[in-house]
Amino acid sequence: MRDKDSSAEFAMERSMLKNIIELNPYGIAVFDEEGRYLRSNQAYIDLFKLPPPKFLSLFDSPPLKTAGVQEQLLELRKGKTIRVPQFWHNSRDVGEEWPDNPICISAVAFPLMDHEGAIHNYVVMFEDITEKVRMEEQLKEALQFKSDIMSTISHELRTPLSGIIGSATLLLEDNALQLPERRMANLKNVLGNADKLVLMINNILDVARIDSGDAGINTERFSLIDVMDASIEPFQGLIEEKGLRVIREVCDDLPLLFNDKQKIVRIVTNLVGNAIKFTDAGDVRIGAKLKEEDRKRVSISVSDTGIGIPEGKLNSIFEHFGRVDTSRTRRHSGIGLGLTVSKAYIDVLGGEIHVKSEEGRGTTFTVILPISA
Ligand code: ADP
Repeated sequence: MRDKDSSAEFAMERSMLKNIIELNPYGIAVFDEEGRYLRSNQAYIDLFKLPPPKFLSLFDSPPLKTAGVQEQLLELRKGKTIRVPQFWHNSRDVGEEWPDNPICISAVAFPLMDHEGAIHNYVVMFEDITEKVRMEEQLKEALQFKSDIMSTISHELRTPLSGIIGSATLLLEDNALQLPERRMANLKNVLGNADKLVLMINNILDVARIDSGDAGINTERFSLIDVMDASIEPFQGLIEEKGLRVIREVCDDLPLLFNDKQKIVRIVTNLVGNAIKFTDAGDVRIGAKLKEEDRKRVSISVSDTGIGIPEGKLNSIFEHFGRVDTSRTRRHSGIGLGLTVSKAYIDVLGGEIHVKSEEGRGTTFTVILPISA
């Protein structure tokens, strides 16, 4: 009785395994311990447009030979599972008369071993990833196109803007003009708005650069105090207008950095710009100190006493165009790219960014960066 039961069970298991192989959407080929072909499923035949091969050897098979994975096959012989890097296959590669229509394939191969570790079979599973690869290529091309357009537009906008800033600055600094106070205020307004536009355009350019993978590191030696000055400078007009106090807190033992100054200026400028933009009264503090744990990193913090960020929004602000909520921020200009750019640059430089905030009380961003890139 028992024998009957177990043979029925055995038959069921066999049929189940056969079905798993036969009905599998992946192309499966099974080989013996010497790598001699035993069987394959319909999906394999459909994929390679081959009749079931008779004398195929795993270690000398055309599909895997095309993939150039002879070294990995040695690993397989030692009992390891191997992932075959994606490869293009054309039915003509195997000498068949099929139309020239290459497909991209990825494969995984593994040995079947008994409990003593002896290999009895090899199984290779093939997947057609042509569509996925083509879509990735198209996406890459589309991203590159978008980056090129953004970069061209930003460059073209910057040129006339530099002209406006240059002329307005000349007029403001021309003592001989003796402009009445109201006109001076108008001119400062022109300059302030032009500066805002420059910062937005810079962020668009930076996003384009980051998206096209063109954000390499250019190192130089510099002081963080210079970075702070450069980051506050574009907002002098707004600081005066709002009557904010901007306080710099720099620890005495702060060393010079050997890192990408331009990127760090862009990061700190975005943080300082936001602190000033979202604070109507009170202080903006910009601090820099050495991380005591290893003395190899610096911590730069920008705190304000402004509107704060709701707890649930603290993650989304780092996303492209991530603005907290348009009704709340409508009166503040911005396109929601500053923090995306800053976070991307911090990642490139191997740093971290943290944010703490309390609605109505203020926000602190802390950036940790290596002293040397
Ligand atoms: P933008 O300032 O151009 O909108 P950012 O990427 O620099 O874009 O910031 C994203 C959003 O994060 C802002 O729109 C704002 O809602 C929020 N935010 C950033 N910094 C502050 C801050 N210091 N205080 C309050 N909200 C802030």
